[in-house]
Amino acid sequence: MTRLARSLDHVRPRYDVIVVGSGYGGGVSAMRLARAGKRVAVIERGREVATGEFPSRFPDMRHEMRVTGGRMAMGSETGLYDVRIGEDMHVLVGRGLGGGSLVNAGVALRPDARVFADPVWPGQIRQDGLLDAGYARARRWLRPARDPQAATLTKFKALEAASAALGTPPIAPEIVVGFADTVNPAGIAQPACTRCGDCCAGCNVGAKNTVALTYLPEAVRHGAELFTHGRVLHVVPAPAGGWHVQIERVDTPGPGHDKQLTLAADMVILAAGTLGSTEILLRSREKGLALSDRLGARFSANGDIIAFGYGAKVPVNAVGVGHPAKIEGMNVGASVSGQIEIVDRHDLANSVTIQEGVLPSALAPILPVMFVPNGRLLGALQSLVSGVYKGPFASLQTFFAVSHDTAAGRFHLNDDRLVLCWPGAKDEAVYQRLDAALAALVGKVGGSYVKNPLAGSVMGNQPATAHPLGGCAMGTDRSSGVVDHAGRVFDGTADKGASAVHAGLHVIDGAIIPRSLGVNPLLTITALAERAMLHVTREHGLACVD
Ligand SMILES: Cc1cc2nc3c(=O)[nH]c(=O)nc-3n(C[C@H](O)[C@H](O)[C@H](O)COP(=O)(O)OP(=O)(O)OC[C@H]3O[C@@H](n4cnc5c(N)ncnc54)[C@H](O)[C@@H]3O)c2cc1C
Ligand code: SF4
Repeated sequence: MTRLARSLDHVRPRYDVIVVGSGYGGGVSAMRLARAGKRVAVIERGREVATGEFPSRFPDMRHEMRVTGGRMAMGSETGLYDVRIGEDMHVLVGRGLGGGSLVNAGVALRPDARVFADPVWPGQIRQDGLLDAGYARARRWLRPARDPQAATLTKFKALEAASAALGTPPIAPEIVVGFADTVNPAGIAQPACTRCGDCCAGCNVGAKNTVALTYLPEAVRHGAELFTHGRVLHVVPAPAGGWHVQIERVDTPGPGHDKQLTLAADMVILAAGTLGSTEILLRSREKGLALSDRLGARFSANGDIIAFGYGAKVPVNAVGVGHPAKIEGMNVGASVSGQIEIVDRHDLANSVTIQEGVLPSALAPILPVMFVPNGRLLGALQSLVSGVYKGPFASLQTFFAVSHDTAAGRFHLNDDRLVLCWPGAKDEAVYQRLDAALAALVGKVGGSYVKNPLAGSVMGNQPATAHPLGGCAMGTDRSSGVVDHAGRVFDGTADKGASAVHAGLHVIDGAIIPRSLGVNPLLTITALAERAMLHVTREHGLACVD
């Protein structure tokens, strides 16, 4: 199997551009700048996981969970899931070459136009016409599509039956999944989706259009060098110009190589995600980098929750079967095949998108333990009789719901660890709104609403999100934001103008989004990254072809 990444033993001391992180923001930046002729290195803290290597059994899945919070740290440092347990909110993000795209559901939606009318965005976002160009480019590379068979799936029909409670029928959303064999724009052959339902464990078919199958191979084709197992700690100006990037290796260096290394670059693009980029800038500020005092603010959970319906009187079939399929003859569907959009024309904050979801097959053995008293015994019995695909778990409903919150969370560093503070998070109006809508949906088909089956565990009753946004939010100048509309980092030096920027330092990922989007964020993160690259390449006189 051809690998894209190599060991940090082979990294060079200097590049034109260093991109930190390899999710949507990192993939777009690396590809666009490599295509424009720059010598690009991508530094990713996770590992490379190829098609066919994603977890399909529970022991493998458990190995992929890295859970941290306070002084607690469990699981592998290169696990695919980075779970942060917080006092006010928990956050789940992906880790690996390809970032969150490896384990997400791939739902690709553009927000309501009123989101961008909010003056929290710098005016250029609305005015320069490049946002539409960004979305067009994002669509060209990620190729969102609707499952042509969505309406025939059992889980879609279950959502349709439940939707009478809200008076709005479901539709098939666009997802970044191919439903026919194809060769993608990076020249990679991708087979058609088998509707195995395991998207959130990683696609072992190769049908999901991840960053690892699109932007990153195209970057490599144009000379970018990708390195895994490197955790960037901070970035500081190099004495002779440009930047120094400090890296700690999370693998075992080869003979003669150090655990920590410093690389130099003219341009650094932080694309380590909302948590990663914010943490790196907070640490860089402690090393003396002058930044906006808005750093860490405007964290939004995107009004996002995952919840369940147990005991529905209709079949749902929303547990993945994986690939190769663990059970024959089940057409589960991709992680999300149906959604209900409730649009409030008067108050955007009340608009809600509810998606039916699928739990990956690797989680099947623990469902009885999660949902049923004495479930351990039931789990053992059921594993003898074709597991959870028959009986009560064939009618388990999983929901992903997205709406709007007030983006009032704030990150800071405590003892070198990133901490999220949002004391009022659980009282945000969005959660009551979502609970009411989901309870009505579940009730309509005779089930019980299970908000959080893990409440009795370390998860407690805090809200959780898989859509963290903000922390390095964009603004017009450093009094309102950490970066400008194109991700250039504002210089916080007191005697410089409020809109002065650090030449060559950018943040380009979900961290720059200054508010909730009300829809799943991947398409907007990619579009904003494409838009930022149009600006950056123009500024440097570089080509940025489609
Ligand atoms: C289970 C799940 C399901 C989801 N489903 C959807 C969906 O259906 N649709 C949707 O729009 N969104 C979905 N999301 C969210 C979406 O995947 C993220 O919003 C998106 O990946 C964020 O993109 P990004 O470029 O900001 O960063 P990421 O994709 O998070 O990439 C950041 C990368 O940087 C790396 N990194 C972090 N810190 C460092 C460091 N210090 N040094 C080096 N590397 C570092 C990380 O390992 C990661 O690979 C889902 C997320 C999860 C977890
Ligand atoms: S349903 Fe299965 S084959 Fe289709 S994209 Fe998801 S993981 Fe891949």
